[in-house]
Amino acid sequence: MAERKSGAWRLPIHDFQDDIVANVRRSQALVVVGYTGSGKTTQLPQFLHKAGFSKNGLIGVTQPRRMAALSVAARVAQEMKCTLGRKVGYQVRFDDCTSQETQIKYMTDGCLLREFLDDRELSRYSVIILDEAHERSLDTDILFGLMKEKFLREEEDSSRRHQLKVVVMSATLDSSKFSQFFNNCPVFEIPGKLFPVKDVYCNMIKPEDVKNPSYCSQAVRVVMDIHTDQPQGDILVFLTGQAEIEKTCDILYKKSEELDYRKTCVTLDVTSLLILPVYGSMPTEQQQRIFSPADLGVRKCIVATNIAGTSLTIDGIRYVVDSGFVKQLSYNPRTGRGHSSGGYPLSRSEAIQRAGRAGRTAPGRCYRLYNREFYDQCMPEDMLPEIQRTSLTSVVLSLKSMGIHNVLRFHYLDPPEERMLLEALKQLFYFDAIDRSGRVTPLGRLLVQYPLPPGLARTVISSSSLGCQDLLLPIAAMLSVENVFIRPGEGKKQVEAQQSHQRLAHLAGGTNDFTTLLTVFQKCKESDSPARWCRENYIHWRGVKMALSIHQQLQGILDKQTQTADFPRQKLEGSPSELLRRALCDGFFNHIARRSATGRSFRTMDGHASTVFIHPSSVLFGEEAQLDWVIFHEVVWTSKVYMRTVCPVRYSWVQDLLPKLHQLDLSSLSGCQLIADEPTPTAQDQDVHKPLLGGQGRASSS
Ligand code: ADP
Ligand code: MG
Repeated sequence: MAERKSGAWRLPIHDFQDDIVANVRRSQALVVVGYTGSGKTTQLPQFLHKAGFSKNGLIGVTQPRRMAALSVAARVAQEMKCTLGRKVGYQVRFDDCTSQETQIKYMTDGCLLREFLDDRELSRYSVIILDEAHERSLDTDILFGLMKEKFLREEEDSSRRHQLKVVVMSATLDSSKFSQFFNNCPVFEIPGKLFPVKDVYCNMIKPEDVKNPSYCSQAVRVVMDIHTDQPQGDILVFLTGQAEIEKTCDILYKKSEELDYRKTCVTLDVTSLLILPVYGSMPTEQQQRIFSPADLGVRKCIVATNIAGTSLTIDGIRYVVDSGFVKQLSYNPRTGRGHSSGGYPLSRSEAIQRAGRAGRTAPGRCYRLYNREFYDQCMPEDMLPEIQRTSLTSVVLSLKSMGIHNVLRFHYLDPPEERMLLEALKQLFYFDAIDRSGRVTPLGRLLVQYPLPPGLARTVISSSSLGCQDLLLPIAAMLSVENVFIRPGEGKKQVEAQQSHQRLAHLAGGTNDFTTLLTVFQKCKESDSPARWCRENYIHWRGVKMALSIHQQLQGILDKQTQTADFPRQKLEGSPSELLRRALCDGFFNHIARRSATGRSFRTMDGHASTVFIHPSSVLFGEEAQLDWVIFHEVVWTSKVYMRTVCPVRYSWVQDLLPKLHQLDLSSLSGCQLIADEPTPTAQDQDVHKPLLGGQGRASSS
């Protein structure tokens, strides 16, 4: 816990500064374990900076979460009394706030992974700190493997020795695995203990609710009970995502305004409730508010995603309310598609972490909305590492672009299932990002330069080669941010929002959800006051603002690529809307469905023939009878499997692409050349003049 000593905050880690620095000097790799809030993320990089490590290169600190990287960098800049972006900076996807002067750089794990693409030695760095290793995010896991490969290369060839150090930081004590991975490197444990936390099972969510939980109004009830019955101390509520958090905060605002403190409250220590939402994409200006202590008599109630589990430490929490659910992107290797869903049961180890947030500075209480049966029957012991439950397509393309051909034999902390890797290879082959022998194609080399999933990157390249990039780039940018449509939960506002979104969809032609995104982007950009325009139209301005910046960056990458001789060009006749949809087909042809002979359902045409429906938010919902073939951006699973963001296409546009979906059979893939060690180039591979978008019967005019 933090205590004030000689005018400065003192955190548990401060007692071990010299020890830690000595350990980093002594060994190439070090694991540091300490409970959340002990000062690892904010202090350890500063220790190394003071000890002179930045003389030999940058101190890089990775975070699995974008918002944690931003917020921690801001805090450290403040502690070091410098402007953010100078000595202390950060880099996250689509946002680089570093300069020549930067010595401590916080970044997402994905950003460091991209740096490996340009320089596998990471020669700009003196130390890499892999923070939040216990989260086992996909990119951090891959960074583990890449660091290990680098060390092995150095062992083999001492002439290339560069003194790069790696520090792995984790909030959970299960660190032996990390140490073993790096040749049994030393483990430094920051001692510390939590105060006792009393568990209260609220019995509101039962095992039968696992598929369709409703935790928002339940959470509100518990928060109001705590607020009126319990002594001082702030509340931290764990929900799943932005929509649930906003809904819950709305109800909380209302309830707390209605509260008559003289009648209902047991103590008059607290006379008002300050409600603060926290989620990944919230604006930076709002983030700092969650850390400031509340005024006397005010109780803070923070409503957060899992980000407040271990990535962010908020002081003063005495009460935790745990919904028992977490949002994670899972992936179905059979259909090759990811889907987002309302939430999955949390693992028990994460539930323990969440409860621990209440016991940092004093004894606390954790209110679990679920009952004991739910805990025992529905919640898994540990969460599966992301690498074992997500699409590996992007990561495999990155590894191959770095020259790591045999992705089955890469140094994984926990290897993914082989079929997941084969599925990724198959997807890359569909996109013509790799050839039959598993080598990255010229198109693949263009795709990997975009911080986008390979399919979406391919639509960008196709659109440019078809001359409709002005329509497609804004769409690609809008697909890269969270859903921008605000859907209030109830009442008059809900109707207004629906009407406003429908108006926008019809303005866009009324037949294609992708062009609705384009219209939102354009209208907002043209508006004199974009923030107001968004408010009036029930659109998240934050999301569109981000999309505007992403658009510029994509344009930048594309402009560079189109200047190269290799850039593919096609000549096709058609209206702009048709060319746009053909470009979309190039990246989403594996997301294609055809309407069943009867009714409103569709069948996917990717060889799996799954039954899917058009999402009610789509402009095409209710118009199914008019449709035949459609492509979609993603599927969501709620009561049914829904396609979200849909547009109609013609069979003739995809008929040349579809056979590719059936050319490879997973069962025969394991022995196939796709995963060969060092493939030998064939005459065909060396033919640089072949059309980059794959000989699909299109005229190439270069
Ligand atoms: P750890 O990484 O070990 O969980 P941190 O270094 O993140 O610990 O946090 C240490 C302390 O720094 C916290 O207890 C909190 O008081 C303070 N702190 C961290 N981030 C911020 C911030 N953005 N604003 C204010 N205080 C912060
Ligand atoms: Mg931390």
